[in-house]
Amino acid sequence: MDNFQEQLKNRRTFAIISHPDAGKTTLTEQLLLHGGVIREAGTVKGRGAKKLASSDWMAIEQQRGISVTSSVLQFDYDGKRINILDTPGHEDFSEDTYRTLMAVDSVVMVVDAAKGIEPQTKKLFEIVSQRGIPVFTFFNKIDRDARSPLDLVDELETVLGIQAYPMNWPIGSGQILQGIYDLQKDELIPFKNASSNPEVVAEGEDEVELVKDAGNEFDEDAIAHGKLTPVFFGSALANFGVTEFLREYLKYAPAPVPVATIDGSLVEPSDTQFTGFVFKIQANMDPRHRDRIAFLRIVSGEFDRGMDVTLQRTGKKMRLSNVTQFMAEERENVQTAVPGDIIGIYDTGNFQIGDTIYSGKKSVEFPDLPTFTPEYFNKVIAKDVMKQKSYHKGIAQLVQEGTIQLYQSWSGTEYIIGAVGQLQFEVFKFRMENEYNVEIAFEPIGSKVARWINPDQLDEKMASSRNLLVRDRYDQPVFLFENKFALNWFKDKYPNIDLEEKM
Ligand code: GDP
Repeated sequence: MDNFQEQLKNRRTFAIISHPDAGKTTLTEQLLLHGGVIREAGTVKGRGAKKLASSDWMAIEQQRGISVTSSVLQFDYDGKRINILDTPGHEDFSEDTYRTLMAVDSVVMVVDAAKGIEPQTKKLFEIVSQRGIPVFTFFNKIDRDARSPLDLVDELETVLGIQAYPMNWPIGSGQILQGIYDLQKDELIPFKNASSNPEVVAEGEDEVELVKDAGNEFDEDAIAHGKLTPVFFGSALANFGVTEFLREYLKYAPAPVPVATIDGSLVEPSDTQFTGFVFKIQANMDPRHRDRIAFLRIVSGEFDRGMDVTLQRTGKKMRLSNVTQFMAEERENVQTAVPGDIIGIYDTGNFQIGDTIYSGKKSVEFPDLPTFTPEYFNKVIAKDVMKQKSYHKGIAQLVQEGTIQLYQSWSGTEYIIGAVGQLQFEVFKFRMENEYNVEIAFEPIGSKVARWINPDQLDEKMASSRNLLVRDRYDQPVFLFENKFALNWFKDKYPNIDLEEKM
């Protein structure tokens, strides 16, 4: 048991959020190099993979495993065991990206220092900030010409509404990068091969003094609640500032935290009862293998292969034997996992996103994961009217799995599906054809701004071509506005109507 408590204390589970091309993959690789998991950069995932068209992406999925194995990466460093959960970006950006953020204890935000806060970073940050978990900021690519660090920090604070605490400070950037000034140790860490430039150094020293005098107070409690973000500068590609970042990150990032159940009680990670929740279900895209993998975040207790558990929603008892663990290769003692760890359970259709499982007799239920407001919508049409039954079944199952969100026209005659990323539609189409043998077509209705309306206030006459009235899968009314202008127009016209945005 001591061993369990010890392991628990040393777990760190995080995700990296960033805008595409900011350097998430490169930083991940450097971290894995630090952990000795890989020996050279460029091996994490087919670097070209994200540049491929989505049809190619599905071919890759079919070969199985690529996105599954890179979904959770584990390594050891400095006595800690670290889990990095991948947040798919680019074309495969989907609700999974958001849900993964529900399964981590902290977040690393990678920002391109030449570009500053970009849209996808902001979106992901907003999801994270609602959870109030710690965020660590890494301004990357200072080996290239970067924006002024004062500017970057100011933008971070104003655009994201979080206070910043610089842990180090770049002295110059690009060709004239001198190094980073470590504000904890009060010393300059020189950039290798920097040709000395006294002017840049003097300017940097002035800034460092300014930051020391006028900056925010260091406040661990504020960091723990996501109100203050420790800020680092560096270059993932040049492996500069990465070690310092990792060291400080491990100092302040939390070990697995307690999770509240729906009745408000807290499940402590150190509880002996095994509990966890499913935050993602990955289907096998190969039609010959219908199995799926349910990703479970362990909340409490110790996982042992072959243990018996109950699936809370259905009461079904099951044995956890067919399980993959996301661990670095060549590790011994692979039979157990502790809170903070992720296990992948092979599933033949028992699990849904948000499900709780537990060992023993005491029933435990974690709250549902939030749903996210989709931005893209399509009408779905079955090409073959003879296959209505499989069509409805397929839609129902894929919606349950969280592949896509389902709406119906208010009259109930048409299906409309919504997603946060475009690829979700293609995955949906592909799976309808391959798993349910139903050909479908889409009729795009473009991007929409979805808002839930209080059913008591609904008057069908409020709907128009600029704000479609639909119902979600719980029969709640939703307006799909053509754009923000249509939304504002509506708000002006009906100032007393409550419109709600999901997360
Ligand atoms: P991701 O889309 O966020 O995963 O970004 P990648 O890690 O794939 O990086 C995008 C591009 O930026 C690649 O060409 C990287 O080699 C490059 N890159 C990443 N980090 C750095 C850095 O610190 N300095 C420079 N100069 N380039 C970088």
